[in-house]
Amino acid sequence: MTVLERAPELREVGAGLTLMANSLRALDSLGLGPALRSSAHAEAPGGIRDRRGRWLSRVDAAEMIRQLGTSALGIHRATLHRILREALPASSLHTGAEVEHVESEPDRATVRHHGPDGPRTLDADLVVGADGLHSRLRTQLWPEIPAPVYAGSTAWRAAVAFPDPIPTAITWGPAAEFGMVPLGEGQVYWYAALNAPPGGHAPDELAAVRDHFGAWHEPIPALLAATPPGVVLRNDIHHLATALPSYVRGRVALLGDAAHAMTPNLGQGAGQAIEDAVVLGAACSGGAEGLPAALAAYDEQRRPRSQAIARASLRAGRYGQQLRNPLALAVRAAALRLIPAGAVLRGMTRQVDWRPPTG
Ligand SMILES: Cc1cc2nc3c(=O)[nH]c(=O)nc-3n(C[C@H](O)[C@H](O)[C@H](O)COP(=O)(O)OP(=O)(O)OC[C@H]3O[C@@H](n4cnc5c(N)ncnc54)[C@H](O)[C@@H]3O)c2cc1C
Repeated sequence: MTVLERAPELREVGAGLTLMANSLRALDSLGLGPALRSSAHAEAPGGIRDRRGRWLSRVDAAEMIRQLGTSALGIHRATLHRILREALPASSLHTGAEVEHVESEPDRATVRHHGPDGPRTLDADLVVGADGLHSRLRTQLWPEIPAPVYAGSTAWRAAVAFPDPIPTAITWGPAAEFGMVPLGEGQVYWYAALNAPPGGHAPDELAAVRDHFGAWHEPIPALLAATPPGVVLRNDIHHLATALPSYVRGRVALLGDAAHAMTPNLGQGAGQAIEDAVVLGAACSGGAEGLPAALAAYDEQRRPRSQAIARASLRAGRYGQQLRNPLALAVRAAALRLIPAGAVLRGMTRQVDWRPPTG
């Protein structure tokens, strides 16, 4: 197994991430559970608030843990990367290796890539395209699928030192959302999302977040005050609006954002990538002989679920972060206050109560 990564070196990337029961069970099946749990923070999910900090909806965290058998974890992306990387034989990972072209034949595939030592070609039984939102493999092998589209929102995020205890929670305002996730060891991951035209950039992104969210309830102003300038990441949110008809073409399989880039509203993009990887690994465990059947099984198991979650995430964004109309906002707030706690929990657990294949 050979991993080709175009980044010249693996550095601290991104901010934080929530891993829910589905991703945790998948990572448990790879034997990574203990390392994850000792390096992350067990979340106490709070719920949804309005800009003044009033709770619109609360989550019964104890009942959630009882039903799912685990809490969710808040984890820094760099920590998750480290744990995954340490589980790989070091010789299998090649950085600074940019894949340029993949050729799929009925019983093999070739990969042309460019690394520190110049161009190289590899022969493979199977190529797994895990090359993200703007996947080159998807563009090459699924040329009929249009590029990802802008979802209408831009998002800022940062991981900051913040020792005060806080619950995992999101806050909604008109066409805006602020989320906070404790990562343990005095670190908090926050993100802020706003409806905006695509391609916007501010000379000082932290000041842009403060302009919009600085007067929202505590601890939002305190979190922003604790954020050093220069650590804030900004990304426009894109998603793959045209669903792939298959995640497999010949001896190439796509997974993660390459296969089903979704909006982050359900916090399931990385979770679905992890599920894909574990299902693909289990399907292919018989070796090269049975690959066509294994890849068909992978596609059959993964495509319906991951595409349904992508659609649900888009809907969650439209009725959550992106909602702007004042009347609709008032109706939403009233409706959220009326929904019984059990129904809130069922809505949350429906998507994440997934188990990896056994064996
Ligand atoms: C604001 C925001 C918040 C999010 N929050 C969450 C969350 O809380 N929970 C969650 O589960 N998800 C979240 N997501 C989504 C999550 O980040 C993605 O779904 C996830 O990173 C996808 O993983 P991936 O491995 O498929 O792709 P990526 O993480 O994009 O990784 C692709 C890798 O391929 C490499 N690569 C690309 N092209 C080539 C090439 N030609 N040759 C060699 N290497 C290449 C890249 O360098 C990169 O390392 C969020 C996303 C955003 C934008």
